[in-house]
Amino acid sequence: MKSKIEWCPGCGNFGVLKAFRRVIERLESDGVERGRIVSVAGIGCHGRMPDYLDIPTFHTIHGRVLPLMTGIKLANPELLVSGFSGDGDALNEGMEHFVHAAKRNTDVALFLHNNQVFGLTTGQFTATTPRGKKTRTTPAGNPEWPINPALIALVSGATFIARGFAGNVSQLSDLMYGAIRHRGFAFVEILQPCITFNNTWDHYRENVYVAEPAESFDEAVKLVSDEMATGLLFRTEKQTFEETLLSSLKVPKKVVKRI
Ligand code: SF4
Repeated sequence: MKSKIEWCPGCGNFGVLKAFRRVIERLESDGVERGRIVSVAGIGCHGRMPDYLDIPTFHTIHGRVLPLMTGIKLANPELLVSGFSGDGDALNEGMEHFVHAAKRNTDVALFLHNNQVFGLTTGQFTATTPRGKKTRTTPAGNPEWPINPALIALVSGATFIARGFAGNVSQLSDLMYGAIRHRGFAFVEILQPCITFNNTWDHYRENVYVAEPAESFDEAVKLVSDEMATGLLFRTEKQTFEETLLSSLKVPKKVVKRI
């Protein structure tokens, strides 16, 4: 684990790291060994997360966080598998994996560092960049409408949808813990300011609010569409991908036990 952190001073990623380190401590106090908490990260500024975590981690290629997470979970269902991805990594390069992991209800938790820009490559627009925003690749303003990632997760079949803010570490840590403890595909969108290429700190501080979870799918569509709503937005239960596969393969139930 590296001790020197290399993000820009003031980056929202510091809040995400702090929140996740608290999750590890909380899982340990539940009796989960560190060796069972596995995380994957893709390419982008978020991709440095594994460098700063004292647990088993993998740094994979662009857009391929979810296939690796799925493979790890299928190989050993006793592991608690989570992953970090950016808006560019998950929604530009990796969109097909995102939709299909949600559709399968794979029992993993994905944390999306949504800073609305490609930060590592110095400020190009991504799938979540607001319309009209000037970036290196949209000097006259982004001509496209942005994607709402939490809404895509919801309509694709994810069973735990939450949104946190990197400036509210306590709430974010609770949401990440809940996502890892949820049985099924859990998605946490993290509003993560990129102080260098898209400084949204003031905007989020002034506008985010904590919402109550929706009680039905239709309500959830409305709630998740409000991009300033944070908290656990929707949760439901259904059979996971691993349970479906293992039951069809007639693997003994004790193989899929969890703490
Ligand atoms: Fe953070 Fe943006 Fe700097 Fe990357 S470029 S480390 S996202 S502030």
